[in-house]
Amino acid sequence: MKITVLGSGTSHGIPVIGCHCRVCASDDSRDKRLRASLYIEGESGEAVVIDTGPDFRLQALQAGIEKLDAIFLTHDHADHLHGLDDVRTLSQNKPLPVYGNDKTIAELRERFSYIFKETQQGGGKPRIIPQALSGPIQIGGLSLSPLPVLHGTLEILGWKVQQASAGHGRAPDPPALVYLTDTSAIPEGTWPLIGQPEILIIDGLRLRPHVTHFSIPEALDAAVKTGARRTYLTHICHDLSHAEIEEYCCSYRKEHHLEAMVMEPAYDGLQMEIGPYT
Ligand SMILES: [Zn+2]
Ligand SMILES: [Zn+2]
Ligand SMILES: [Zn+2]
Repeated sequence: MKITVLGSGTSHGIPVIGCHCRVCASDDSRDKRLRASLYIEGESGEAVVIDTGPDFRLQALQAGIEKLDAIFLTHDHADHLHGLDDVRTLSQNKPLPVYGNDKTIAELRERFSYIFKETQQGGGKPRIIPQALSGPIQIGGLSLSPLPVLHGTLEILGWKVQQASAGHGRAPDPPALVYLTDTSAIPEGTWPLIGQPEILIIDGLRLRPHVTHFSIPEALDAAVKTGARRTYLTHICHDLSHAEIEEYCCSYRKEHHLEAMVMEPAYDGLQMEIGPYT
């Protein structure tokens, strides 16, 4: 399984329009943060994306995305959904299933109502099949399980992604990627579903607390609780540069004697691999 971070930024994207702070003005390419999204390729070429934010077109071009088998949504906020129209070319050959929780799918149908209406010939529209989901689903050899988490008071979904066990000598629970963007709390019932991920990508907005997002210290505390081998922070705002967050993660690891764990900020274009790829 190959994982590409398409975007690691908060809702504004970094640089923020009109902002001249040192992070928005930084020359470090890792400080350019598009809206949060993840692209995952399975061992048999399956390809799924988690969230299609307003930067999706640019992200797809940059990552060289040429096919998609399904779209998974965390929630309906604009920064995670509003690039959905740009899956048009990727849905030309076959309609794309779009999975999310009940609320997200209902909201998608309302916000993108034109997709489901009769329109004149020649008007291009994405071909999608929205479907509310409450349990795991398989896309080819990839298994995706919804993880209910809280984004303020809103219940949204994280996703756990695994290469489905093929039954030939693999461990019963294959190593997992867990993606928890826009998360401020993990309900008791979700911890067992998360398990111990190989890779955890988790909301770490900034150092200061926020009502609908984990702060970086809260995200790292949650990472320790999961025992994830590799943790990457995402949905990052412009308070800190990539280098500063790296430094913070490094001192957090030292202070908590976690030298064996990887803890780093994600950045756009970051690629990771799980399974036979590693
Ligand atoms: Zn967001
Ligand atoms: Zn700024
Ligand atoms: Zn959100």
